[in-house]
Amino acid sequence: MPNYSHSKLKAFEICPLQYKFIYMDRMPRREEGIEGFLGTRFHEAMEELYKNLKFKIPTLEELLEFYEYHWDKDYSDKLIIVKENLAAKDYKNLGNKFITDYYKRYYPFNQSITLGLEKGISIDLLGDGKYKLNGYIDRIALAPDNVYEIHDYKTSGSLTEQKYLDEDRQLSIYQLGVEKMWPDAKTVKLIWHYIAFDKEMASARTPEHLDRVKNEVIKTISRIENTKEFLPTESALCQWCSFADICPKKKHMFQVEALPKNEYLNDDGVKLVNEFSVKTAELTALRQEYAQKAKEIEESLGKIREAVINYAKTQNMEVIYGSDYKLTVKNKPKVSGPKKDTKERAALEQAIKEINKWAETSTLDTGYLEKVITENLWPAELTEKISKFLLVEPRTTVSLSKLKDPSCEDKRDK
Ligand code: SF4
Repeated sequence: MPNYSHSKLKAFEICPLQYKFIYMDRMPRREEGIEGFLGTRFHEAMEELYKNLKFKIPTLEELLEFYEYHWDKDYSDKLIIVKENLAAKDYKNLGNKFITDYYKRYYPFNQSITLGLEKGISIDLLGDGKYKLNGYIDRIALAPDNVYEIHDYKTSGSLTEQKYLDEDRQLSIYQLGVEKMWPDAKTVKLIWHYIAFDKEMASARTPEHLDRVKNEVIKTISRIENTKEFLPTESALCQWCSFADICPKKKHMFQVEALPKNEYLNDDGVKLVNEFSVKTAELTALRQEYAQKAKEIEESLGKIREAVINYAKTQNMEVIYGSDYKLTVKNKPKVSGPKKDTKERAALEQAIKEINKWAETSTLDTGYLEKVITENLWPAELTEKISKFLLVEPRTTVSLSKLKDPSCEDKRDK
């Protein structure tokens, strides 16, 4: 069984295809985003700071020099900068500010004793080698009263709400690792440093919470292990995805974006979509026109129908003859039941079951069965039991939709 980590599980939860590219196909990534690069440089600076503390406290100038040296050494023009109004130097300055704020806030860094930096952890959730997790903790420290602290640095531009930190899986996993390494760790404090906000946030876990996390992780790993098709899942995070150029949902946009403004209209794909949308608009207009005509005809037919019923009733007739057709008028009650998912509907179903007539009246929902098969709604062993009765045929659908989110979906300058 492969090893998992919080990032690996998260990659699958965000987009199974991205997970496959990274962890199964080991595809080389396209360029990194500058936010990730800045985060790595900040982590390096923190490692440098705490590593040297046992000898002496580095000055802020020394630390900034270290940061700038590594920024310049590892910087590449290929780094992706999504925000159009920002340049690389803005991010470099931001890193400078992050380090300065952190340094001033915690100087002389004697709040706790550092036990490990970028410390690797390894957990075997059930002890049978089937569900193994790895991770790297930014900093583990021992505070007064034998409180173990797990520190995590966040350089993102958004401050996570406390309720999400109280449910955060990553640091829960780290706590499991710390408790395994130091069985005397009875009190563990989870600490997040939101560097962009010069803010420290904390949370704690109960044994019950950790058990729940373990069970959820086991379920997610089982889902990954049972997945046969790793399908792309679009989200706002696609704009930072390193595989957009090979992803079936994004590669065409990627190709088109690279074309000069006056050339993209010659792209075969663009031509087909444009033609498709024009024809769809024509078809919609025509359908509306015919729908209006159909409505008018239906209305006049309704009036004639009324007249026929009236005629049959007053003349006491069941069949009325025309030149080429005849009309039969029957009085037959229409039966309808309560709507789906209502109490009344449930009561009706129960009543039918009680008189052993359910088999005669219930019908199979084939639309739902299709979802069961294509979206893996049931565990594999249950699906297997019904698969033999179903005919699964290849089908290709083509649907037209408007580009909704200009920042993510369509960045062309039209
Ligand atoms: S671009 Fe989006 S949908 Fe495609 S692989 Fe990346 S995250 Fe998944």
